[in-house]
Amino acid sequence: MSSTLRMIKKVVMLTLFCAHDAGAAAGVTDHAAERDQMVAQQIANRGIKDERVLAAMRKVPRHEFVPESERRHAYRDTPLPIGEGQTISQPYIVALMTELARPEPSDRVLEIGTGSGYQAAVLAQIVEHVYSIEIEPTLAQRATELLQRLGYDNVTVKAGDGYAGWPEHAPFDIVVVTAAPDHIPQPLIEQLKPGGRMIAPVGPVHSTQELRVFEKNADGKVISKSVTPVRFVPLRRRPD
Ligand code: SAH
Repeated sequence: MSSTLRMIKKVVMLTLFCAHDAGAAAGVTDHAAERDQMVAQQIANRGIKDERVLAAMRKVPRHEFVPESERRHAYRDTPLPIGEGQTISQPYIVALMTELARPEPSDRVLEIGTGSGYQAAVLAQIVEHVYSIEIEPTLAQRATELLQRLGYDNVTVKAGDGYAGWPEHAPFDIVVVTAAPDHIPQPLIEQLKPGGRMIAPVGPVHSTQELRVFEKNADGKVISKSVTPVRFVPLRRRPD
């Protein structure tokens, strides 16, 4: 090999190495391209406009929140199993619920149904703090560890029945319910601040529910509207 050729080879190798390195540093190797595509095709394309929501969906590494066996499907337009018979919602539904909640940086949020922790992480990108309750202790533990590992120190998860809310941290600016009750739990309405928003799928178990937005006005009156039909796993009650 001539010295010029050797030189060219060395430069090419170096360029490749640097390009890879720069990519890793900028985070572009962490499925970022798949997330950009997910946001463009599945989320922005379907009408989600809130820039903070779009940015959060581009940022949170959804593949970390699904089991190893589902990882290659993490950015697909579908819900996925997360174990214990539960599911992580379709990306669009997570984005829609987040946008409907109109999250602000100073907001404190209560989530019912931590599941994988993904919805909590998306909210945590935007708001001050997320309190999240999961009835299945295995999932609560797994989500706690994952969120900690990923550096979400503004999310607090506890194992328990979310029907009763989390009175110690109430009132909340936002309540997001990600398992379907057949009626809205009264404690959750009570723990909502005046001016607060609650997003919940409400309807018969094992059937289609309605995604509803509840808004509490300044004098405590609650107005609700239906947004779209959805299918969520049921909100279970702990037998006691
Ligand atoms: N938000 C989740 C998906 C939720 S799936 C995510 O981003 O991955 C619904 C979750 O609600 C399940 O994990 C289920 O175990 C939980 N759940 C059901 N009933 C509940 C209750 N009463 N209190 C708290 N969590 C409940």
